[in-house]
Amino acid sequence: MRAHFKTAVRTSRSPLPLTLRRELADIVGGSNFLTGDATAGYVVDWTGRFHGWTPAVVRPGTTAQVSAVLAACNAAGVPVVPQGGNTGLVGGGIPLNGEVVLSLTGLDRLDPVDTDAMQVTAQAGVSLQRVADAHPGFDLPVRIASRHSATVGGAIATNAGGLRVLRHGPMRAQIRGLEAVLADGRVLSHMAGLVKDNTGYDYPGLLAGSEGTLAVITQARIRLTPRSENSVVALIGVSDLAGLHGLAVRSVREVTGLESAEFFTTAGLDILLAHTPLARPFREPAKTYLLLEASGPHAMEQLGELAADRPTAVAETASDRARLWQYRERHPEAAGFLGTPLKFDVSVPSGQWVHFASTVTGVVHSVDPYAQVITYGHIVDGNIHVNVVPAADADGRHQDVVFNHVASLGGSISAEHGIGALKARWISLARTDAERSLFAGIRAAFDPRGILNPNVLPR
Ligand SMILES: Cc1cc2nc3c(=O)[nH]c(=O)nc-3n(C[C@H](O)[C@H](O)[C@H](O)COP(=O)(O)OP(=O)(O)OC[C@H]3O[C@@H](n4cnc5c(N)ncnc54)[C@H](O)[C@@H]3O)c2cc1C
Repeated sequence: MRAHFKTAVRTSRSPLPLTLRRELADIVGGSNFLTGDATAGYVVDWTGRFHGWTPAVVRPGTTAQVSAVLAACNAAGVPVVPQGGNTGLVGGGIPLNGEVVLSLTGLDRLDPVDTDAMQVTAQAGVSLQRVADAHPGFDLPVRIASRHSATVGGAIATNAGGLRVLRHGPMRAQIRGLEAVLADGRVLSHMAGLVKDNTGYDYPGLLAGSEGTLAVITQARIRLTPRSENSVVALIGVSDLAGLHGLAVRSVREVTGLESAEFFTTAGLDILLAHTPLARPFREPAKTYLLLEASGPHAMEQLGELAADRPTAVAETASDRARLWQYRERHPEAAGFLGTPLKFDVSVPSGQWVHFASTVTGVVHSVDPYAQVITYGHIVDGNIHVNVVPAADADGRHQDVVFNHVASLGGSISAEHGIGALKARWISLARTDAERSLFAGIRAAFDPRGILNPNVLPR
């Protein structure tokens, strides 16, 4: 079965029909209907790699307004790109072909925390940091370096992973209820917050990771976790990638309260040392670095045993922990100091991790000998972020070799950022014809006119 989409009827660089323009401005109010120069911040992504244009940015403040905006665009056959904090790294939130931008940042209500259920209801535009700060006793299980700007809606739409997946799972695992609007304006709402609820299809789970292609998320009920007290962070220098991976695997088995296991190498660290106020973490040289965070009564002792006599920096106070985390959390910026990066976030099976991490730079150099390559990531879930600053044209050659290398090792071309526009051409490396046909059928059921995020996930 192969589903067919009726494609949206507008062509690029054509203005919005006047009636639709008036209708959208009436729905959200003139100050939330932006055109011309006022749209500049919405048409370029965080990396600077993706540039688009839009005839209008529409900023609704309520679910009813989202519904009315979508119904109007759907009736007119005008494509729409949903956008949250615009921190996505695969070009999924950028209007590459003149789509209307539906910015959800105006949906910013955060309810009081339900301390009995350990849940909170947040509208789509609330930042992840606001959710994490909502109550002194509770924390948001998902933590990503972009949390001050990334929104609840964007994190669900991308099924964000981040720094604590090994302990708590990705964003999909935190959803206890969801409200979303279909392309034709119908509102789906399932917000009871029940932990057990087997009443039909789990569409909130399906919308997690759907990258704005199935529906627009307007609010969610989110699982919280008790805030960890007295956690310890250890940054350990390791001489090579095999030793690094072996130590990370041991940490999962031996450190009972392990929250995070992250890595970076001297390639990224040296750039950060040259371009930021960060100082070298310890005097002894190391090629690779493992950052571990653990909580509980045995954290210090267990991390100490693991580090043994390797060079190590340890932090127990909140400010010291934050200082050590900067070495890892500032790595997404490192490549940006050298140029406009191509960001790959891939994962490989544990048994292939050392091979992939050791060979990926050579693989990139086979098509671009002067490209700069920085790797870092969430080591125990097999996830490696490969940041490439190309010297040759970024014409797809880098994706070709990296994604084929990943596929040959049984890995995934998107561990957490999504397919977006960056990887659309390569999805057949990751999914079979039968799977892609099923995807197209699901998409057609949610959005028959194909107006939602047409550049993301090929049809
Ligand atoms: C410094 C840095 C570090 C990062 N670290 C991580 C990391 O560790 N792990 C990780 O997973 N990601 C990471 N990211 C990527 C990014 O922050 C996440 O993908 C984040 O979840 C995107 O949220 P956003 O609100 O910025 O979404 P946007 O960038 O605005 O949009 C992302 C996608 O979601 C869709 N979308 C947005 N809002 C909605 C909505 N309400 N309804 C439907 N669709 C919507 C968009 O159309 C787009 O396809 C990082 C990014 C940066 C810049």
